[in-house]
Amino acid sequence: MTVTADTRPLDVLADFPAIPAGWHYLDTAATSQKPQPVLDAINRAYGETYATVHRGVYQRSADMTLAYEAARKRVAAFLGGREEEVVFVRGATEGINLVAQCWAGTQLKAGDRILLSTLEHHSNIVPWQMVAERVGAEIDVVPLTADQRIDLDAMEAMLTERHKLVALAHVSNVLGSVLDAKHATALAHKVGGKVLLDGCQAVPRMAVNVAEIGCDFYVMSGHKLYGPTGIGVLWGRYDLLDGMPPYQGGGSMIDRVTFAKTTYAPPPGRFEAGTPHIVGVVGLHAAIDYVDDIGLDRIHAHETALVTQAREALSQLNSVKLFGPADSAGIVSFAVEGVHPHDVATILDEGNVAIRAGHHCAQPLMDALGVPATARASFGVYNGADDIAALVAGIERVTRIFG
Ligand code: PMP
Repeated sequence: MTVTADTRPLDVLADFPAIPAGWHYLDTAATSQKPQPVLDAINRAYGETYATVHRGVYQRSADMTLAYEAARKRVAAFLGGREEEVVFVRGATEGINLVAQCWAGTQLKAGDRILLSTLEHHSNIVPWQMVAERVGAEIDVVPLTADQRIDLDAMEAMLTERHKLVALAHVSNVLGSVLDAKHATALAHKVGGKVLLDGCQAVPRMAVNVAEIGCDFYVMSGHKLYGPTGIGVLWGRYDLLDGMPPYQGGGSMIDRVTFAKTTYAPPPGRFEAGTPHIVGVVGLHAAIDYVDDIGLDRIHAHETALVTQAREALSQLNSVKLFGPADSAGIVSFAVEGVHPHDVATILDEGNVAIRAGHHCAQPLMDALGVPATARASFGVYNGADDIAALVAGIERVTRIFG
């Protein structure tokens, strides 16, 4: 195999106790492994410094509140927004549901339209279908280009003033296709539509700045960014958040409660009912520090180089068909002729190579590709050329077994 790009590891493998020597983890698009500084931050938060936030008058709780709000500031700086625009949620799925219910559910009416794309994850499809059905709105779907990106020319031609919302993946979790988010946002704004970007696969792989993109909402999940599960972020423009009703009712999201009338806290507190995932927020802060220390530009260059090398090596195998564009961000979906992706993944697992096989929560995309499922290798900061060599050796074994 010829090495055509710099795929030297970022030298961080030792930070990841869950990746033993000889195990090739290629499923970071599903969830990333956790570096020691994140594990330490979680341990400390539960172990030595644990207390609730926002309520306690004692020092420990005041300190935890400071840590919780410091994380909000950190997320705001990381995404290029303001801290009062950062809402902590369970993950991207909850962030999208929150916008669907509280923004679309109150702003859209019968006859309005929502624009999605063929490659969306189910979590950026189903919440819009639910709200569309409730308010009588319609959904349109932007097709893909020949090289499997969201077709922005087609999108421009489809957009009308009826399109009140455009919701797109910043990076596809199946194809790795990177959206020109700034251009897509400008197109939607031209007709007065608001834009939500699903940044799940983008934030671990490239520097993101919502102010520069100009979008209205941005969602991400902590567990794909080397942070804990159960914590994510909805970033929303303050004026939009401020005009939205609460998501859930309970403690923390109120201004004043009486049986006659309850008034609500301003954003972001309005959308954070109940005791939050305090330790998740602290862990997310540590994860952001971790990736920023490495540098997202370095991470992006590293993963792009791995994709180039993997695609080149796989394209030399006659039995392999590649999906997605050549400049995919860290993700390579493929098929091995005549072998079900689940069988490919099972045989690879026998060789200590962990990939994902299935529809990747993107069934409409599978329909468009004309396959029931794909095999997917996805990279993270800990991967290197040895992982690609193991992947290729595994696939050669698959083709030997299946003749
Ligand atoms: N969107 C994309 C592009 C994803 O890859 C995922 C996770 N696979 C999600 C949304 C949903 O994220 P979560 O399950 O963390 O809410």
